[in-house]
This record gives sequence, structure tokens and C-alpha cells, in this order.
Amino acid sequence: MAAKVIDGKAFAAKVREKVKEHVTRLVGEHGVTPGLAVVLVGENPASQVYVRSKGKATTEAGMKSVEHKLDETVSEEELLSLIDTLNQDDTIHGILVQLPVPDHIDADKVLAAIDPAKDVDGFHISNVGLLGTGQKAMVPCTPLGCLMMLREEHGSLSGMEAVVIGRSNIVGKPMAQLLLKDSCTVTIAHSRTKDLPAVSRRADIVVAAVGRPNMVTAEWIKPGATVIDVGINRIEKEDGGTRLVGDVDYDDVAKVAGAITPVPGGVGPMTIACLLANTVTACCRTHGLAEPEGLTA
Ligand code: NAD
Repeated sequence: MAAKVIDGKAFAAKVREKVKEHVTRLVGEHGVTPGLAVVLVGENPASQVYVRSKGKATTEAGMKSVEHKLDETVSEEELLSLIDTLNQDDTIHGILVQLPVPDHIDADKVLAAIDPAKDVDGFHISNVGLLGTGQKAMVPCTPLGCLMMLREEHGSLSGMEAVVIGRSNIVGKPMAQLLLKDSCTVTIAHSRTKDLPAVSRRADIVVAAVGRPNMVTAEWIKPGATVIDVGINRIEKEDGGTRLVGDVDYDDVAKVAGAITPVPGGVGPMTIACLLANTVTACCRTHGLAEPEGLTA
């Protein structure tokens, strides 16, 4: 039987609607408008597109959106000074520095400068530690989006066998922590893992976050498993153009999986939805107000 397609675009629209409702309540009942500041350094075309769509989505959700576009040559000191200003700004509840930053800027230093309470990307070491110890943290948007889709699909994830392929700080590791928090039995596989197909085949849930087009094939998947494809890879088409594919060979895996996310239209739209969700969560925590249900880990 063909796998159920998990429609990330439709689910993200629901999450964004929920965020918008909560924002309306915050504005109407408490006079508080959540605000997100996005900082972009340089002219990276992909980053420019991301920043534009993040700003648009923020405004559509009824929140305040601020964009700071800095020249490629901006000094680390100037960037840190801007972050300090945003940390002090009471109208800003979330700060996101679009990565990558130019080589002369130390990205770790920049991330460490963001107030952890406003760290809507969840990359600050304090939030990494809070998540790792099972405490209330700001959680990275992409893994949070994957978790929301899995919860929507399965309800409780307790006792499920999960394999996360990829161990990056922004996807693989936090994804594994979130699945562990939801009581899965978690394996993190990576480039040095022996017999990766066999490891993957154990899983009720496979999350692929590698960056290698179509790497995961049907032989890697236990029949009926849920497959979440985080990968975004641009490959050449026969006609000379390009198209996006994930880390999962979609057509092949869809024959054996129980449910699968497509690329595009799976995890991608959930990432921005979760950025909005995190901004509302950060705002509620700052003001000591009730957090929106179903939008946090
Ligand atoms: P990364 O390069 O930082 O990490 C990749 C991980 O894959 C590494 O931990 C590495 O050990 C592992 N790996 C590499 N080759 C492997 C192999 N042959 N077998 C097993 N594991 C291997 O990448 P990342 O930032 O975690 O991103 C992973 C993918 O997810 C990329 O395609 C990226 O574009 C995509 N991504 C998508 C979103 C989204 O919103 N959908 C967000 C972030 C990243």
C-alpha cells in the first residue's frame, strides 16, 4: 500500500492560524504585540529569500516584524552591538541572525550574545542545555516542526523506535533530544555509522537530515514506518534545469513507508511556522502569560 503523504504545507497553515489566534488574544486582552527581529549580514541570495519570507509570515500572523540588513563588511563588534540593542528592546521578543554569517564573524560568539529568552532559533548554548536536561527551552524550529508532525500523525510517540540520520547541532541532535523527551528509543546515525540501512530498518520513525539527495531507499525502511525528510537538495534535471529533492528517495520509499513527508511541501513550511510559534512562546514567557497549547515541545 502506498504511504500516506504528510502534508506539511497544510499542517503549517494550521499552525500559523493557531499562532495568529494567539497573537490576536495577546494584543486584545493584554496589549502585547509579539515582535521578531531578523538580522541578515551580506547578500547571500538564499538567505535573502528566507529573510523575506520570514518577515512576510511574521506580519501575516499579526506580529511586529523588523529586518536589519547589514553590509557584508560589517564588523563583528557592530553586529554584537546591534544584538545588544535588540536584547534591550522590550518590543522585540525574538531575535534571529540568519546563518551563515561572513567568515570574519564568529557565528558562535554571535549566537551566544543573543538573550536566551529571545533566542527563537534555539541555538544558544543555554537553550541547548535546557533541552538536553529536559527543561523548558527555546527549541530549534526545524526539529520542532518535525516533532509536531509526528505528534499529529501518532498522538503519543512513547516507546517508539526512532532513528535520526545526521548529527548536526541545528537538526539532528535537537531532533534526537525531542524524540527522547517524548519517550522514544532514539538512535542517532551519522556518516560513520556501520550498516546504516540495517540501523534505519529498525525504526518506527526515521528522520533524515543529511543533505545527500535520495540517499534513503526502500530497503532502509521497515514496512509501515513514518519517514520525515528534512533534506533540501537541488539537483540537475535532464532538461538542464534544477529541482529540489530530499534525502529520501520519495517514490521508492513511499512504496513501503506508512507515512512520508514530501520535498518540497513537507518539513520546509513547518520551519517558518515554528519560528512564529517560538516568537509567540517567547513573548508569553517574557510577560508571564499562558503559552499557546500545542505550539511548544
Ligand atoms: P549538516 O551538513 O550540518 O549535517 C549533516 C549530517 O549528516 C552530519 O551530522 C553528518 O554526520 C551526516 N552525514 C553526512 N553524510 C552522511 C552519510 N553518508 N551517511 C549518514 N550520515 C551522513 O546538515 P544540516 O544543517 O543538519 O542539514 C541537513 C539537511 O537538512 C540539508 O539538506 C539541509 O539543507 C536540510 N535542512 C532543511 C531544513 C528545512 O527547513 N527543511 C532546515 C535545516 C536543514
